[in-house]
Amino acid sequence: EPTITVIGAGLAGSEAALAAAKLGVRVRLHEMRPVKMTPAHRTANFAELVCSTSLGGEGIQQSKGLLQSEMRSVGAAIVGAADASKVPAGNALAVDRDEFSARVTAAVQGHPLIEVVAGEVQAIPDGITVIASGPLTSDALAADVARLTGSERLSFYDAAAPVIDLDSIDLNIAWRAGRYDQSADYINCPFTKEEYLTFFEALEQARSHTPHDWEKLEFFEGCMPIEEIARRGVDTPRFGPMSPKGLDDPRTGRWPYAVAQLRQEDREGRMWSLVGFQTGLKWGDQKAVVQLIPALQNAEIVRYGVMHRNTYLNAPEVLDSTLQLRADPQKLVAGVLAGTEGYLESSATGWLAGTNAARLALGQPPLTPPAESMLGGLVRYLASANPKGFQPMNVNWALVPELPAEINPKTGKPRKLGKREKRPVMFRRGLEAFMAWAQAEAGLAVSAPPVPV
Ligand code: FAD
Repeated sequence: EPTITVIGAGLAGSEAALAAAKLGVRVRLHEMRPVKMTPAHRTANFAELVCSTSLGGEGIQQSKGLLQSEMRSVGAAIVGAADASKVPAGNALAVDRDEFSARVTAAVQGHPLIEVVAGEVQAIPDGITVIASGPLTSDALAADVARLTGSERLSFYDAAAPVIDLDSIDLNIAWRAGRYDQSADYINCPFTKEEYLTFFEALEQARSHTPHDWEKLEFFEGCMPIEEIARRGVDTPRFGPMSPKGLDDPRTGRWPYAVAQLRQEDREGRMWSLVGFQTGLKWGDQKAVVQLIPALQNAEIVRYGVMHRNTYLNAPEVLDSTLQLRADPQKLVAGVLAGTEGYLESSATGWLAGTNAARLALGQPPLTPPAESMLGGLVRYLASANPKGFQPMNVNWALVPELPAEINPKTGKPRKLGKREKRPVMFRRGLEAFMAWAQAEAGLAVSAPPVPV
């Protein structure tokens, strides 16, 4: 009888187990809680939400909204449990924490094809296995994952800077250049003295709100958070990562008082990260501080900066877009360990890994969703991102292809669509592509979900 193993009953593993069982495959699901807890989990529930209770913004303007709809169209379990335990939260899919996890736990435990095994897995078992042990994977298992992938491909800390959508950067203020004679690989945001002091004050304020982290972090000099650099004095950032040296502002012909630099994050240059701005600031504060950077007053942050313990693989070096490990295609990885970030992303990669593991067990080829879909865009990014300094990624619109330029019939020139105009089109394109793929390629029962506006 076809059987697979899933390690971890978190967001990714619970979904993986249910997706595989739905295809008629037996699942052995290992979960170490409550026998052994993690530093963040509080309960023995499956799919426990360790922090916020939101699975992201909803509707046709939202990249998370598209991923939610894709998951609904195939009847995925996590998004189904979220819909059933939804609480009012503006335009976000937020849930009652306990009810949500209770629903997932009941669905897993009540499934006749899923056997739950309590206890820590210390070594990756033989056979088809989904490894979904999350950002707080136990040490013994992490060591075994490192053995399989190479230890330099497994990270234990995430010190990331905010990443900005190119469309939201004001290029009338910022300009492209490198320092001195470097090639023009950076977008530079220039500060006057007044602007810098306002920014610095906001940064100081925000630092005072930073909660004491639930674990002690040692900062390496190279990945010190910007708020820690600022703690050392008002001029420290501008003699460090915000140095204006060698950057002639084309508007003045001179070096500005300070500069925030952005570096290209993806192949197409649609996502840009703030150089030297790794930060543990709360997300609300982070947005306010970033928007005080000239040229970023309307910045859309596609991924917030974080400073926390996080176990994750350098996905582009080890994973295929099917979520199989290149070193051993019988082993699949999902969730944060696979280089995603976020509850919803973890569950969606869990769904794909579970589906592909079941397909392998049934002698069918594993699949990659289409590039236009949000899940397809995410897993293709994981498999093909720049491996240098790779950090876990949330879904965002820059993961799916741009729309073809619309030609203005009068002038014959391409017309650039505004983002509020183009996102609903990308939403429909993605959902249609995903549903067509799920039905025709994956042979799944698909139903068009209601689309929240
Ligand atoms: P998890 O949900 O953590 O599931 C992994 C499971 O594997 C756990 O149940 C764990 O007990 C089990 N496990 C680990 N090792 C073993 C082993 N050796 N044997 C058996 N079982 C094992 N994302 C958001 O969208 N919003 C947030 O607010 C948010 N806050 C976060 C706060 C913290 C402190 C952290 C660390 C992450 C946060 N994330 C957040 C990121 C991420 O979305 C969540 O961590 C999410 O739960 C990841 O899903 P996962 O399935 O990869 O891991």
